[in-house]
Amino acid sequence: MKPSMLAMGLAYGMLTTVAHAAPHQEVHDAVGQQQQPLLQTLETLVNIDSGTGFVAGLNKVETLLTERLEALGAEVETHPAEAYGGNTLVGRLQGNGNSHIMLMIHYDTVFGEGTAEERPFHIEENRAYGPGVGDAKGGVAVILHSLEALETLGFDDYGQLTVVFNPDEEKGSLGSRDLIQQLSAEQDAVLVFEPTFSEGDSDAVTVVTKGINYAFLEVNGRSSHAGGAPDEGRNAVMELSHQLLQLKDLGDPDKETTLNWTIVEGGSKRNIIPEQARAEGDMRYFDSSEYERVLNEARDIIENQLIDDTDVEFRLEKGRPPLPSNPQTEALAEQAQQIYRELDRELQAVEIGGGTDAAYAYHADSSTPAVLESLGLAGGRYHSDEEFVLVDSVVPRLYLTTRMIMELSDTEAGD
Ligand SMILES: [Zn+2]
Repeated sequence: MKPSMLAMGLAYGMLTTVAHAAPHQEVHDAVGQQQQPLLQTLETLVNIDSGTGFVAGLNKVETLLTERLEALGAEVETHPAEAYGGNTLVGRLQGNGNSHIMLMIHYDTVFGEGTAEERPFHIEENRAYGPGVGDAKGGVAVILHSLEALETLGFDDYGQLTVVFNPDEEKGSLGSRDLIQQLSAEQDAVLVFEPTFSEGDSDAVTVVTKGINYAFLEVNGRSSHAGGAPDEGRNAVMELSHQLLQLKDLGDPDKETTLNWTIVEGGSKRNIIPEQARAEGDMRYFDSSEYERVLNEARDIIENQLIDDTDVEFRLEKGRPPLPSNPQTEALAEQAQQIYRELDRELQAVEIGGGTDAAYAYHADSSTPAVLESLGLAGGRYHSDEEFVLVDSVVPRLYLTTRMIMELSDTEAGD
């Protein structure tokens, strides 16, 4: 955190006394009381299908979440997520302090209508199963029940808590990303509740996520009879092949940028010199400047053609941006690790190759907000029939979020 924030925090010492005086045991007791209610909430949420774009199911979840937020004292707004349907919910709780903290996660899943009926929520030993149980309905439940715990503790030293539940993350958040960018700009900290992977006794938060871009290579040649007049044709498939070989090293190992060509199409009939050919590629990166570099390099490279009179075009479309390595996120991760140590538990700070909405909350041109990802439940096999969360991750994860909010209320001041 910025030194100025710390100074402000000290200036408001009167307000933060409660947080310091509260024994951590009290927090642990309060979140312990939330374990069963959280599992009940999770069961209710998981048993409502809410695949991205399944508006009837999304609306049911939305109604339920609105009621829960209002019961916690939040004022709730809905914003239509245009691309796939459903609404983004924004709930705001006013406190007596200064810090602005946002808690964010999606409530859509990757599972189609009928999945919840086929394999509803169930618990076997330490594992809870069901569609979206970890990704990310577990995260929704952690947010709601951390707020319950704060209410039990009588804690309201934050300035404003903003809860954001969006309905379209699994398809890229096209209908909620602008809102996320706009709301996050007003925050000191943004906590994102995607699930984390469990490994033995330790689990993790995410400090870096890769961005994704989509590469397109298109070649236009000229068709001609392959038997009668092959020389009059301009073979787009041959030109594409030449270009793909030239464009195979657009990645940068030092920067961990990758660009892999994954789809190729071309030609139509065996006796026709193909007029058109195209390829698509998947680019992953941490460093935002890699977009320009790859685009410029590729456009230089394609100038070198194998076959005259073919048109070659390279395009790069922007997908989800990265959450790059940054000091604000590192500071939040350290804070989280310290809190986990209070429980005698290890917390890793990891990088992941996939993108999440944390990237939309991050503002490269500003030191705020600090963004931390993966505060949801610990589990695994996400997006599969065996998706699960660990029941014994519920209490540590509730403790982590509740204490994070208390600590952030302590040390940060809003504008
Ligand atoms: Zn997710």
